[in-house]
Amino acid sequence: MRFEFLKNRLFLLMMCLVATAGLIVSVVQNKSRPAESASGGEESLTPPPKSSSPPTPPVDNQDWAHILINKKHPITHDFSIETVPIDDVPVDIRVAPYLNSLINEAKSQGINLGICSGYRNIQYQKKLYEKEIEKFMNQGLNREEAEAEAARHVARPGESEHHSGLAIDFYTYDEPEKNLTSDFLNTKQGRFLDKNAYKKGFLQRYPLGKEDVTGYTDESWHYRFVGDDAEKIKNSGLTFDEYWEKYYSRD
Ligand SMILES: [Zn+2]
Repeated sequence: MRFEFLKNRLFLLMMCLVATAGLIVSVVQNKSRPAESASGGEESLTPPPKSSSPPTPPVDNQDWAHILINKKHPITHDFSIETVPIDDVPVDIRVAPYLNSLINEAKSQGINLGICSGYRNIQYQKKLYEKEIEKFMNQGLNREEAEAEAARHVARPGESEHHSGLAIDFYTYDEPEKNLTSDFLNTKQGRFLDKNAYKKGFLQRYPLGKEDVTGYTDESWHYRFVGDDAEKIKNSGLTFDEYWEKYYSRD
């Protein structure tokens, strides 16, 4: 039964991938290519772009996995992705195989790795942020103070990495009181992720002691898919924000 279900799910996933591949390719191409010249002449004197010459099949360069969303780089309005639910949590469809692989790896070590948050739209993030502001106002802060305090813990709408569909909040069913707290790092799940997540392309995004760079207090449960560079980034000791500025920024 379970196998049949997985098979069906895999088939559906494959169909979705086929259906969306064209869209993804065109989005990536639009992003990475300069605007076409207005003349549009076939016999242009400028040399053709390098990418058009080699007759090799297109390779996924994982640019999509390097998107930076933070307080300085909010999401753009034209941003959209295809999502698929994993344990009822929507994530970017391209991340799903890696996430499943990570969950299965944990399972093989006897660890039940839950996920509690993936893709979020702007409206939902707005609700979370407002709720956090309310919490601090109830503690006696005025609106302005509460907004500033809330932004240390919850991203403002448009600035959350969860809009990318590449960010995952992990969860433990064994010690629920440690979920979404610094203590998550000391759970079986937290330790497993700290040691293994990079092998599947995931990076802990808001480490302890880096609030001045990331803008957030530590979140040992929040991981972000970055693809094949995960090990390099982890070993660099840089946050993703810093690594991005150094190696991925096109400014
Ligand atoms: Zn998160």
